[in-house]
Amino acid sequence: MAKESCDGCGRTITVAGGIANIWSFSNQPSTGIMLEFEDGSDHLLCYPCIEQLPDDPSEADVAALEEYDPEADADTDADTSEN
Ligand SMILES: [Zn+2]
Repeated sequence: MAKESCDGCGRTITVAGGIANIWSFSNQPSTGIMLEFEDGSDHLLCYPCIEQLPDDPSEADVAALEEYDPEADADTDADTSEN
């Protein structure tokens, strides 16, 4: 297991250590895997980003992914009692 950041959105993700783990990702939305594209490049991507990619993704598709904004997430869970 290692902490890395997604090439698509930049959020910190945990990379599974073995191939057996890739099938359990539905329970771990904050994890990602290294994808090797047909053009020979490889990208570490989180699952939300992978789901947005077309069937034959390219570097341009990765570049087009929206950057993850942790503050936007925080806004949806605003709790004024904490401040
Ligand atoms: Zn991502």
